[in-house]
Parts: sequence; structure tokens; C-alpha cells
Amino acid sequence: MADIIHSPYPEDITLENAHDLVTPLMRAIYEKRHKHENVSLEKALGRILADNVTAKINVPCQDTAAVDGYAFYFDDLDKPLPITGSIKAGHPYQDSAKPGQAYRIFTGAVMPDGPDTIAMQEYCEFDKEGRVVLPHTIKRGTNYRPAGENISKGEIAIQQGTVISSADIGLAAAVGCVSLTVQPKLKVAVISIGDEVVDPQQTETLKLGEIFDSNRPMLKVMMQNMGHDVIDYGIISDDLDTVTRALIDAATNTDIILCSGGSSEGDEDHTKSAILNSGGVIDFWRLALKPGRPMISGRINDTPVFGLPGNPVAVFVCTRLFAGPMLDVLQGGDGCLPPKIKIPAGFSKPHRKGRAEYLRARLDNDGNGGVHIVINGRPGAGVLSSLTGADGLVEIPTDYDDVNIGDELPFLMFREAAL
Ligand code: AMP
Ligand code: MG
Repeated sequence: MADIIHSPYPEDITLENAHDLVTPLMRAIYEKRHKHENVSLEKALGRILADNVTAKINVPCQDTAAVDGYAFYFDDLDKPLPITGSIKAGHPYQDSAKPGQAYRIFTGAVMPDGPDTIAMQEYCEFDKEGRVVLPHTIKRGTNYRPAGENISKGEIAIQQGTVISSADIGLAAAVGCVSLTVQPKLKVAVISIGDEVVDPQQTETLKLGEIFDSNRPMLKVMMQNMGHDVIDYGIISDDLDTVTRALIDAATNTDIILCSGGSSEGDEDHTKSAILNSGGVIDFWRLALKPGRPMISGRINDTPVFGLPGNPVAVFVCTRLFAGPMLDVLQGGDGCLPPKIKIPAGFSKPHRKGRAEYLRARLDNDGNGGVHIVINGRPGAGVLSSLTGADGLVEIPTDYDDVNIGDELPFLMFREAAL
């Protein structure tokens, strides 16, 4: 069967062009689906906010004391002042305040109407008549929180598209929200393809030529970490009908399909043909990227299918750099490539122009008080051990020549703490 490649790039496509090509396709699917859901604040952690949260009140609502002390009219600073009242948090002063008095006040209490300054109790003294003598260093208007200091009425408290953090939940509660409108989680089908691939949960020992499935467990947790629901389609064999049936099923029952293996052009690689047999389209095949070249991006009806390579490092790289951002677009995000920072290389490496290369790397002390990038583990698209203990990926850009020590290269962090 002739492959229908819809990509305007007959050659391997660069990652950037792949993003440009597929982002609008994912956005169109997002627009069609476009369902939001409401979740309680407790359930909102890690979800993507679908609508701006606008503050309907000032926080705090009124001017409130920031310290325990004495509220007074600043113009009275030079006089010892008799002390009146005891204004506690949650118990506003009921009478009207007047000059020539100091008002005992505690943190969080509403400022009485009139006084404009609070003296901290630690800096106050008292004369024989029990009047408060105020500290002369104090400035007008200090030690209280003006209404709306935290956030004012009408201001956007949390922007749409935010991945909701614990602080966002605190702020949403502060403006009186009990629930938030979020993007629905995506149902992600994860499929491993390969006759040689076996599940360690089902087989303890490997027969000749078999390998344990590492892609599916890795992809599942990557998806869960991104907040998606995984539908596990298990391991399927290198058989066109089997792959086609699995893709049709997954396209009907899930929001996006991630399969690994079988995406090259060997006799036993069926993903591309299976997408076409399922009535789908291929948007591009083959990335100008190492590791991860035999990557397929297609759609069956409105379900994206990303046919990842079989090699586990390539699976990781293609998921981080391509599938992850596209999943973000499917949730209303902008699908930006992960941020890169330029850091000097502590290694040298020959590089041929035309294909971007992503090497597993660590940041290490350069011996002069700075950091440089060092290669982590052994090379190879199948060498998953090179990813364990790595801090990120170092990019050798598409049009770069050989790398020399000291060259500044883009570094992409992926350690959880750095994300
Ligand atoms: P393929 O893309 O199917 O040609 O696979 C490329 C390489 O990745 C082969 O050495 C496969 O055995 C290996 N591979 C494929 N799928 C998996 C998997 N699920 N886990 C680990 N290795 C795999
Ligand atoms: Mg295979």
C-alpha cells in the first residue's frame, strides 16, 4: 500500500517543524472536544485551569493589623496616648475612633476607622499614667495591611492554563472559591508493539530473543505524572491486523494513542499501515532527531496517534519533546517546547549537521566554581540506563558542527525538581 504522507516535508522533519505542523491539528481537536469540568478545590491539584479565577472580593477585605500593637493617628506621634479598646481578629471595633487615643489591636483585626498607623508592641513604652509612648522611628501608615494588598477585587487571581499548585488552591480559597473549572484529563491509550516484548508481570524468565517491556511502564508513569488517565492496552504482536484492531479500539475509546515499536519501515513494522488501514492519516513520519527518528504522528478520526520508536531512550525523548507538548495543546495549552538553558559543554563530540541530537547528561562542577554538562552513561538509543541519574538532555542543534569543550549548548532539565 502506498503511504499517504500529508507532511509538507518529504524529508525527515525537524522537531520545530513537527511542532508547527501538528500544533494546529491538535488545537482543532481540542476546540471540537472543548468540554470543561468542575472539581472541588481539594481535587484540583495538578489540573489545568480552564477559566481565569477573578477575585470577587478584596483580600484582605478591609485594612487589617499586620502586628500586635497600638493603632493611632500618626499626627499624635509625639504625645503619650491613653489606651482604649482591645480590637481582636474577627471582632471589629464597634465605636468610632478619635484622635488623641491609642487603640490596642492584634494581628488580623480590622483597623478602626481613623487611625492610620500601628506601633508594634515591642517598640512601645508606657509612662506612669499607663499611657503608651510611641517609637519615634515609626513611619506613617506602617504595620497594617491595606484592603486588597494580597489581591484586589476584579484582579485575575489565577490565569487560565495554570497547572494548579497548592498555593493556587490557597489563593482560590482566599477569594472564596470552593471549586475550579479545569480541563478534563485525557484518556491516553498506551500500547507496546513487538513479538519479542514480554511483560515481567506475566513471565519471570525470558526465552531466547525476548526482552521485558520497559516502554509501557515508563510511558504510563510519564502520562500519570502529567495528570492524565492511562488506559493500558498491553503488549500486542507484530501483526498488521492485530495492530489495526488495537488502534481502532483505542481510537474509539480513548483521547490519544501512544504506541511504541513497529514505527520503522521493516517488514515487521506495521504502525503506519495500521493507521492508514484504520481510516487514519499520517501527518509526518520520521523526525530529524537522534534518538527518535522513526516517529509517526497521525490521526484516526479525531484521535491523535503517536507511533513512537521502539528504543526506550527514543521513546523518552520523543515523549518529552514532541508528544508531551502536543498533549498540552490537547488540553488548551500552547504546547511550548520544554525550556532550554545554555550551559558550557564539558565534553567534545563529533556531530554531523542535519539532525538534532539529544544526549543524556548531568550538570557537574567544572572545577572553576561553575557548572558544565557531562554525558551520562553509555551512548545508544536503547541504553535506558543512560537516563537514570541524568539531570536532563543536552541538545546538539540540527545545524551544529562538532562539539568542543566549552561550547554553550542548550540543556533541557527533566529532573522533577527542575520542571
Ligand atoms: P522497533 O522500533 O520495533 O524496531 O524496535 C526497536 C528496538 O526497540 C528493538 O530492539 C526492540 O526490541 C526495542 N523495543 C521495542 N519495544 C520495546 C519495549 N516495549 N520495551 C523495550 N524495548 C523495546
Ligand atoms: Mg519491532
